Amino acid sequence: MRKYFIAVSILLLLCNFVSGLNTRDSLESVVQNSTGKVKTEALLELAFMTRVNDFPRSHRYASEALLESRRTGNREQEASALYYLGMAYYYNSQIDTAMTFFRRSCVMAEAQNNHKLLGNIYLLMGSANNIYYGDLEKTFDYYNQSIHHFLLAENYRGLGAAYSSLSNIFRVNGSYEKSLEFIHRASSNYRKADYREGEAWIYYLTGLLYNSVGLYDESEDALQRSLDLYREISAENGNMTGVAICLDQLATVSKKKGELSKARQYNHRALELHRQGDSRFGISTSLKYRADIEYRDRNYQYALFCLDSSLSIKKSTNDLMGYASVYELYGLIFAEDGQYRRAIDSLELGMEHARRNDQLRHIMDINGHLSDIYQKLDDFDKAYHFLNEQRKTADSLYSTKVTRNMIQLETLYETEKRKERIHKLEQEKRITELSLAREKQFRYFLIGILALSLIIMVLFVFFYRAKNRAHQALARSKEISDEANAAKDKFFSIIAHDLRSPFNGILGMTGILKDRYDDLDKKEKQKMLAALHDSLHKYYELLNNLLEWSRSQSGRIDFSPENLRFDSALQDVLKLLSNSAAQKNMKIINVAGSPTIHADRNMLHAILRNLISNAVKYSYPGGNIRIGSEKQEDKIIISVSDSGIGIPASRKDRLFHITSTYRINGTSGESGSGLGLIICKEFVEKHGGSIGVESEPGKGSTFYFSLPAGNNALGKDQQ
Ligand code: ADP
Repeated sequence: MRKYFIAVSILLLLCNFVSGLNTRDSLESVVQNSTGKVKTEALLELAFMTRVNDFPRSHRYASEALLESRRTGNREQEASALYYLGMAYYYNSQIDTAMTFFRRSCVMAEAQNNHKLLGNIYLLMGSANNIYYGDLEKTFDYYNQSIHHFLLAENYRGLGAAYSSLSNIFRVNGSYEKSLEFIHRASSNYRKADYREGEAWIYYLTGLLYNSVGLYDESEDALQRSLDLYREISAENGNMTGVAICLDQLATVSKKKGELSKARQYNHRALELHRQGDSRFGISTSLKYRADIEYRDRNYQYALFCLDSSLSIKKSTNDLMGYASVYELYGLIFAEDGQYRRAIDSLELGMEHARRNDQLRHIMDINGHLSDIYQKLDDFDKAYHFLNEQRKTADSLYSTKVTRNMIQLETLYETEKRKERIHKLEQEKRITELSLAREKQFRYFLIGILALSLIIMVLFVFFYRAKNRAHQALARSKEISDEANAAKDKFFSIIAHDLRSPFNGILGMTGILKDRYDDLDKKEKQKMLAALHDSLHKYYELLNNLLEWSRSQSGRIDFSPENLRFDSALQDVLKLLSNSAAQKNMKIINVAGSPTIHADRNMLHAILRNLISNAVKYSYPGGNIRIGSEKQEDKIIISVSDSGIGIPASRKDRLFHITSTYRINGTSGESGSGLGLIICKEFVEKHGGSIGVESEPGKGSTFYFSLPAGNNALGKDQQ
């Protein structure tokens, strides 16, 4: 099994590369025609391409790359050059020197945080420890480090290589389930890297695993799939190594199935390809497999010939690990051929190499063969001794070492798992942090939007109210200007009509008196003078109203409220109106009593004069006028009721307003100015009181107004 493993491990490192003469030539020309970074890069590529079969060249390229990188001071390339130099020694089986270079490269790569390079270095150090030192503990440690760095570098191809190397170790140590698990891990990483050679490699490893557990059909199937993939890949890059190793393994499976001619065919093609590729390691492996096939077919001579060829190549390539299996096969062939002495010598030589390399499986098998031979030689002591040795080795292989390995592998596996878990947790934490930050941002954004909308709303309300206020102010000023206009219109209409037209009558009458004074008799003269007086009285009243109104409009009217007896104020007014009331045969009934009122005398006069004269004017002859009063808290409410024509409800609202156009003549044709009620309202309000009317058309009206009640004790002006 070990020999397969070596081949597999080397292929693992091989399978990433593309080799070909054309590429090599062009790289050589790059080296010739360039300097610095480009030259170093080309040299490293060449060192890599020649590392398996051409140590001197690989060594030279890597050394030149090292010099060039040092000359140009490129520390990163210097680290790589040290690694490639180590690699050249590694493939030439000079493991100690290789390890020295790997360690030097490692120190530099650590300082440069070059995780990809570190992953590669540890991977090769792991393989070196496994293949050449047999130190599994260190092997796991290095593979573990390799995985760690590949994870940091997010290098899935490297991870695939590390996991598949581990799957090999599990398989060789009989832990097939774990081996399969690591094959899957390797597979998923190769897929992530979209690495087709990785897929081929996975099928190859699966084939080996099935072979180990005796499932030869399945093994053949997997190897065939691997072979198909490698063929496709080789058509693209010309590298036949993958195809060759698949054919080698197909040969061993066929041999185990007893299909020897088929095995020979596979082996023949494999050998051809190894030769074409100048792979000495491959050639020696194929030759050894061929020897095994021929041995099974009892062609001992040819088998020995193949083995000789294989061994001489192994010697020339210093393939120390391959010796034990070759000497073991020699022993078997000699024993079958009856050459027991030679067989024992060969087996003992094989044993020596196996012990040196700690190849327990070979030690166990060789002990078994020696026991068989001594049995045939009737040397039962020795036969028993080797049987015992075989059992002991088996014990240590299956119990001690396997257990130890398993514990190490479990630990590694656990560490791996833990690392993955930590990595996952870290990622989750980062995602949570990120989403928290986003949430926070979103929150701030929302708060911002909210604040902005609030400001907009406040501004909106502010402007709306301001606009409303402006509207109201505008409406109010419009109202004022309307009122002013209405007042002005009223004033002019009064002057034009009410004041002017009655003058016609006066002028007419005074004209007659002047022209025909002597023609008129005394009675006629008296009658005309009485009418003239009456007219003038009305004008006087009108002018009074007009004057009062215009003064009140311009704010120039005096306002001197005092405590006065209502009765005395009323009597003054009634004196003036008694004539016109008498003319209409009307009775004025005063039931107001004499409450004390705190009012401006002239204004109270004007109010009463207007209301009572209206009552006379709009009542039918013979009607009654009633004047009453009522005390309500600190107010006195005065009412003037008549039994006249009344006022329609629709007219009542604007009766006291300047814009009112409701104006009718009195029951005896008396004209009016429409000023009276307006003056009344103004004067009442000047006292802080109010005025109103209750009326029923055809039945009469009651006008009432309130004035502040006077203080009886302060009645010094009362009359
Ligand atoms: P006028 O000089 O026209 O009487 P007023 O302001 O005093 O002016 O009255 C306005 C109008 O109110 C009158 O034209 C009349 O139509 C109505 N009015 C006032 N007082 C009375 C009342 N006691 N009865 C019926 N209508 C009245």
